Amino acid sequence: MTRIAFIGLGNMGGGMAANLAKAGHDVRAFDLSAEALARAEAAGCLVADSAAAAADGAEAVVTMLPAGRHVAEVYETIFAGLPAGALLIDCSTIDVATSRAVAEAAQARGLAAVDAPVSGGIAAATAGTLTFMVGGSEDAFARSQPVLAAMGKAVIHAGANGAGQAAKICNNMILGATMIATCEAFALADKLGLDAQAFYDIASVSSGQSWSMTSYCPVPGVGPTTPADKDYQGGFATALMLKDLRLAMAAAKDAGADVPMGSRAAERYEAFAAAGNEGLDFSAIIRSL
Ligand code: NAD
Repeated sequence: MTRIAFIGLGNMGGGMAANLAKAGHDVRAFDLSAEALARAEAAGCLVADSAAAAADGAEAVVTMLPAGRHVAEVYETIFAGLPAGALLIDCSTIDVATSRAVAEAAQARGLAAVDAPVSGGIAAATAGTLTFMVGGSEDAFARSQPVLAAMGKAVIHAGANGAGQAAKICNNMILGATMIATCEAFALADKLGLDAQAFYDIASVSSGQSWSMTSYCPVPGVGPTTPADKDYQGGFATALMLKDLRLAMAAAKDAGADVPMGSRAAERYEAFAAAGNEGLDFSAIIRSL
């Protein structure tokens, strides 16, 4: 049993903290939301009245927060109460620069830190089947593994600090671009008089195949059951896809990388979200074509 502080008990963090408690860890939880705290308590966590109180004396701290500034703010309040060598595991999706900066700040205080963003949505967080992509030293990665394994099905070492975030945004940049490419191919096929099911049957076993087509088909009634079959409710919200694409564009700018397809995907998702579609699953972008 490890004494773990869990900070950020929202859509994702709520289920993750519950799975750590279920695995027998001593979980001290904190969130700004009283409702989230009540849910964590019902799931077997001890609730704290501040992030600092949750982290006081913890061996490991897991954060699942909206953005980099939240992680940086929370880290500043908890550093002082952590024992030497405590491990910070940030599972939030945040910008690479902040991720590296907070890890350096932690290491300068004699703490260990990894970034461990996730693939898989709310259902996977609840079921404990997330995939974690981890950035940090070999030693910190090894120490993070048993904690992350209680919340996921795969824990993969991506490289040094920040590499987990890099893997996450590069993966989701592919996803944004392939989803739009898949949607526009279905739209063109339709205009050419080609039946959507017939096109799926062909493209899904041809070189146009991708996860966006065969696991997450954006056309209702075609392929496996996806958010398209539920009027694009649930799934991975357009707002979250846009967040990840913005992070990818910022990282590309900092790194001087040329990302023509990713930047076009970001523009299309900016426009789609601004038209009032932020809450729809990201595959609903087919409606704009
Ligand atoms: P959410 O908004 O539901 O949860 C965030 C929680 O953090 C909220 O409960 C909020 O009250 C809390 N919070 C904010 N500032 C805080 C502070 N200073 N101290 C304590 N608590 C604070 O968001 P989510 O959907 O759970 O996403 C969390 C992270 O996971 C994000 O970085 C997101 O990009 C990433 N992510 C989400 C999904 C998804 O499908 N929702 C999938 C993969 C990754």
